[in-house]
Amino acid sequence: MPIATVNPANGETLRTYEAMGEDEVERRLRLAEATFRTYRTTTYPERARLLHRAADLLEEDQAEIGRVMTTEMGKPVKQARAEAAKCAKAMRWYAEHAAELLADEEPSAADVKDSGAARALVRYRPLGPVLAVMPWNFPLWQVVRFAAPALMAGNVGLLKHASNVPQTALYLEDLFHRAGFTEGCFQTLLIGSGAVDEILRDERVKAATLTGSEPAGRAVAATAGEMIKKTVLELGGSDPYVVMPSADVERAAQVAVTARVQNNGQSCIAAKRFIVHTDVYDAFAERFVAGMAALKVGDPLEEETEVGPLASEQGRSDLEELVDDARRGGAAVLCGGERPDGPGWYYLPTVLSGITREMRVHREEAFGPVATLYRAADLDEAVLIANDSAFGLSSNVWTRDEAEVDRFVRDLEAGGVYFNGMTASHPGFPFGGVKRSGYGRELSGHGIREFCNITTVWHG
Ligand code: NDP
Repeated sequence: MPIATVNPANGETLRTYEAMGEDEVERRLRLAEATFRTYRTTTYPERARLLHRAADLLEEDQAEIGRVMTTEMGKPVKQARAEAAKCAKAMRWYAEHAAELLADEEPSAADVKDSGAARALVRYRPLGPVLAVMPWNFPLWQVVRFAAPALMAGNVGLLKHASNVPQTALYLEDLFHRAGFTEGCFQTLLIGSGAVDEILRDERVKAATLTGSEPAGRAVAATAGEMIKKTVLELGGSDPYVVMPSADVERAAQVAVTARVQNNGQSCIAAKRFIVHTDVYDAFAERFVAGMAALKVGDPLEEETEVGPLASEQGRSDLEELVDDARRGGAAVLCGGERPDGPGWYYLPTVLSGITREMRVHREEAFGPVATLYRAADLDEAVLIANDSAFGLSSNVWTRDEAEVDRFVRDLEAGGVYFNGMTASHPGFPFGGVKRSGYGRELSGHGIREFCNITTVWHG
């Protein structure tokens, strides 16, 4: 895959980049290692000052970097600006909370005494250079949610971004430098995915985090496993969106549209499978399909656009194949189900019903604006369908019945259960999945502690 910006709205190649050679990668690895030696001794207030500055700069750059993201991967420009703002917020959150999240912990007095210690504590120390392999779908956010906690913990970052978002990748390196972080604290490696393995094997790289597809996650985790290096994986999702009879169906249908098509449907935590209790199925389906069909699809640089093109031609044909497979298997296409005429990698917002277990769209992640509708006879069946997936990232449930709330929290196999709303990440809450959605957590205290050396300090 060439490292290039190709505008998904018209297929035009805007910029291409030469991949960094071995010498340049070596120079950067050396710099990362050398920088870590001193950066690790900086204080939380020093790091926080720099991260606050990065947040301020990012906010100033919102409009410009928003446009860059839109031309690189096609998200509606309004959403691109909102992504930049969210990144600034996460930077500030970690700048403000890291010291407290990583403060020394005191074991209980009884355990200290029982161990024979005069005193003891647990300290969170940084690990070193961490490699981040990141995807194009939220080209700023995926990186910042790694970088903000990593830098506050005293680690340094090496970014291998997706090959189709090189300008955003270079922007991030520049942003951290302008904020005052020394050069080796955060570096972008312009490399193809084939170069990742060797870098991960390098002993100067201490750990890795990857957000992306299952095959990419498997490759990185396998090498990291061989090298005994810690990894965090955030892979795909096919989140359920359950609607029970006590729900506000009107609102549930309205939110369902956004939950499915945010980011042109290319979000790991987008709701993808809509599982509706039979009592409210028709009312929900009618509103949901109408909402999906009414979306404004078009040029993502237009302020009014709600759904832009998919990020790549391959992404669109993958999605088309899922829909065609379902159609062949007897699914009903309630709206969309085709690409519109004209240039660009667009695909119309689509709702499918009559889904069977044999259909690929039931088992695989539909990475685009395609929703599947299921009818459930009762709560048990809703849980059964929801859990009938290899993925377990997040989940959404609409109900006002407290007994049902307890059941869903107990039984849904996912890293999140969001009631009467849609899944959205927030710096204060852990984010990540179970099953083949990956392991480990990002954000919150859990996220910042993933790449720490949790050290027992014992005094006799
Ligand atoms: P990939 O997983 O291929 O890309 C994500 C990142 O991993 C990119 O930086 C990519 O680099 C890198 N990568 C790919 N293969 C390897 C490898 N073997 N070793 C090391 N790094 C690797 O995602 P795609 O863009 O191909 O999307 C495919 C599908 O993945 C989507 O349809 C969706 O289902 C899922 N996905 C999920 C995301 C999420 O947010 N969880 C985000 C993106 C995709 P390069 O770009 O150079 O290939």
